[in-house]
Amino acid sequence: MPTLFEKIIAGELPATVLYRDARVIAFLDIRPQAPVHILVVPNKPIPTANDIADEDESLIGHMVIVARDLARQHGIAESGYRLIINCNADGGQEVYHLHVHLLGGRALGPMVTRK
Ligand code: AMP
Repeated sequence: MPTLFEKIIAGELPATVLYRDARVIAFLDIRPQAPVHILVVPNKPIPTANDIADEDESLIGHMVIVARDLARQHGIAESGYRLIINCNADGGQEVYHLHVHLLGGRALGPMVTRK
């Protein structure tokens, strides 16, 4: 079964795409948790952070560079932002296609919910 993000990459599901190249796509999160909430997604379907291979090193770096550039473009580079990769159940992962959340535009509070 293709994930939602594979369908977005294939153009089979609509999304507000902000950037794409041969390796990644970036689009607005459908349920934004902050004024800026963008997902940076590799075109290659890597299910979780556990499935990142050694040869994906430059792809993962590219995802971070794209997130950095999007932060600048959205005016949050100086105010600050957070990059998040959720992994599996305890990480709260919902979509099993690797993605980096770029969140900013407000003070984001503590890194995790306090116990
Ligand atoms: P995660 O919990 O890290 O797997 O995050 C998955 C994210 O994907 C959530 O923030 C969802 O709001 C977002 N999402 C789910 N479906 C879509 C969609 N069709 N378009 C854009 N974002 C989506």
